[in-house]
Amino acid sequence: MNFSCPACQQRLTHNETGFDCPNCERHFAHIASCPDCHQPLQVLKACGAVDYFCQHGDGLISKKRVEFIPDLTSQ
Ligand SMILES: [Zn+2]
Ligand SMILES: [Zn+2]
Repeated sequence: MNFSCPACQQRLTHNETGFDCPNCERHFAHIASCPDCHQPLQVLKACGAVDYFCQHGDGLISKKRVEFIPDLTSQ
């Protein structure tokens, strides 16, 4: 899935900390989204590990399956 910068329409790059625009260097936080129902996931932090939980019936979601979407209001 690709996302565009709301300011300059360049494709955003994703890393561990969120999304970055390579053109205008804006940074956006990311939101974890369920790959099955596409609702935001609850983030559970325990003992240095992070788990993602779907409150809409899909249960725990493996980090590999989590879809990250940019929070465009977070810049
Ligand atoms: Zn940009
Ligand atoms: Zn779900």
